[in-house]
Amino acid sequence: MKSAIKLARYALDHNETPVACIFVYEPTNEIIAYGMNDTNKSHTGIAHAEFLGIEQIKHKFGSENLLSIFKDIILYVTVEPCIMCASAIKQLGIKKVYFGCGNDRFGGNGTVLNINKDKSTISLNDNTIYDSIPGLFRKEAIMLLRYFYVRENDHAPKPRTKKERILDKNTFPSINWSSYIDRNLFAREFGVDNLYHFDQNSDLTDGKQNNGIDWDLINSSYDNHIEQLTKEIENSHINIHKRIKIQ
Ligand SMILES: [Zn+2]
Repeated sequence: MKSAIKLARYALDHNETPVACIFVYEPTNEIIAYGMNDTNKSHTGIAHAEFLGIEQIKHKFGSENLLSIFKDIILYVTVEPCIMCASAIKQLGIKKVYFGCGNDRFGGNGTVLNINKDKSTISLNDNTIYDSIPGLFRKEAIMLLRYFYVRENDHAPKPRTKKERILDKNTFPSINWSSYIDRNLFAREFGVDNLYHFDQNSDLTDGKQNNGIDWDLINSSYDNHIEQLTKEIENSHINIHKRIKIQ
């Protein structure tokens, strides 16, 4: 998720909405694709981070192998997948999703709709539903979005008053865990000792110093990050063709 946050910061620095994702192939724990929002530059509403990642995987492994590889993929995305993306990754039979903050308007993993848990829609794979775990680097993901909107507003034809432009670094909406996961899954993911966060709708980092926010992480620039990711992906040792032949 740290890598996804860095990529979101990169997007912010390049005038895109700071939303980014990393696709990890679980059996080898390697990054095999990444994506970041490209809706501003490409002027297309569907250039969401997840779609760009899916395209990379298709390109690297071939569309015919998409399903066999997706069943072992874990997606880390800074913002909850929207309804469209939640549905796309479900059809491809993704294994699991981790995300940072909720997507209040379009969230497809529990905020607006529970696409990931809906058994009535089919997956092309054996995985009919997937778990989507919220709350990883949640405040960092929210802060990056706030940076973006404050900046956007500065460029707006009718800038709002100074008062409205103040960047809030201290208050965060509470996280309604039960919209996304149940108590048992929470305990499996974060440990029984942290269950009070589930019950209180509080962040895992609440009560920690600096609001639990890794400011260094979101305030640095990552101009080499794409290069690093590309190298990492090129060096990954997944040989999906071999795997399929063996099976
Ligand atoms: Zn989307």
